[in-house]
Amino acid sequence: MFHSFLIKYAEIGIKGKNRYLFEDKLISHINTVLRPLDGKFLVTKEAGRIYADASEEFDFDEVVDALKRVFGIAAICPLVRIEDKGFDDLKEQVVKYVGDVYADRHFTFKVNSRRINKAYPGTSETINADLGEVLLQAYPELKVDVHHPEMLLNVEIRKTCVNIYSLVIPGPGGMPVGTNGKAMLLLSGGIDSPVAGYMIAKRGVVLEATYFHAPPYTSERAKQKVVDLAKQVSKYSGNIRLHVINFTDIQMYIYQNCPHDELTIIMRRYMMKIAEKLAQKNGCHCLVTGESIGQVASQTMQSLQCTDAAVEHMPVFRPLIAFDKQDIVDISYKIGTYETSIEPYEDCCTIFVAKHPVTKPFLDTIEKSEKNLEEKIDEMVQTAIDTEEVIACW
Ligand code: ATP
Ligand code: MG
Repeated sequence: MFHSFLIKYAEIGIKGKNRYLFEDKLISHINTVLRPLDGKFLVTKEAGRIYADASEEFDFDEVVDALKRVFGIAAICPLVRIEDKGFDDLKEQVVKYVGDVYADRHFTFKVNSRRINKAYPGTSETINADLGEVLLQAYPELKVDVHHPEMLLNVEIRKTCVNIYSLVIPGPGGMPVGTNGKAMLLLSGGIDSPVAGYMIAKRGVVLEATYFHAPPYTSERAKQKVVDLAKQVSKYSGNIRLHVINFTDIQMYIYQNCPHDELTIIMRRYMMKIAEKLAQKNGCHCLVTGESIGQVASQTMQSLQCTDAAVEHMPVFRPLIAFDKQDIVDISYKIGTYETSIEPYEDCCTIFVAKHPVTKPFLDTIEKSEKNLEEKIDEMVQTAIDTEEVIACW
């Protein structure tokens, strides 16, 4: 019965003159997700609101699911738009709407009309009262509650048409991707980093990703898992370019030249350094990781201090820093990455981990150990970057 959606946005970011940029980005993302679906939707903006109108039949659930993945949308309101044929007709249409949308009508309601067409007879108060009355007559099981209604029936009287809506489906919130710069996500095959990427993208940030691959210690299947995760995140964030860096030689070199209990930290530092170079090369303004305080040895406060210090020219954002594992798992379920994340393919870092890694590394000590790498490491880092594989994930 619905053929249109009113799409509400809340926070549109830096307001004022830039507002239209946010709205236009949002409209462009809405078009991108709706285009492959049935309905031939026309998406328009009007006075701080966005409408998507179908000109053909469409699958309601499919369209709502697609819109629920567009950051920047606060609420999705399916609406019925009728021609303005006078108040008597409007009364009939409102009765029909409530009958069609609600099979069980044992709830409280309130009519909220808006006269955008100021020439329409009556005031919003009289229209509310009159429509409320016809509804009570048609459906005696309804009750009015003007303070906390369970159903708010919105009736917007416009110049040529009237919009009727009452269902409010929550959108994902956030800001339209592409309105807040670009980030380089360190994406592993685990549970955390896809969630971290999702959270940053939700703030309107475009994502690129880097994965450190260590063949033959990590399999093609482990790499495919990361590609799958990037594709899943891209359903929200839009296109992700995944940079796959062959990390084997660097890992071996560290293994051969540094104390084994410091391996994980030193490896992490080189991951950060390489990711930073890739970020600079690709116009990203920050790095993003899935780290959270105390989760593992490499994420103690001291370890985080050491990894952080490896990055020179940009901030490292860790959106999960204060999250409990279970909270991260809950989000990964919600966004659909969990099942892929728990596939049992080995991670490049688990292969070389020491039995007893340092949990309280000192930056001085770590930097001293890294002196053992001086001879070849710069060249190896450059080679790793030069031989990257870029995979389009969307
Ligand atoms: P995740 O679930 O994201 O893998 P984790 O709890 O397993 O995280 P670690 O393995 O210690 O934690 O990794 C911490 C962070 O470092 C990850 O969230 C990710 O951002 C980054 N990282 C780890 N391994 C890799 C890798 N092979 N490629 C790219 N980034 C990685
Ligand atoms: Mg991991």
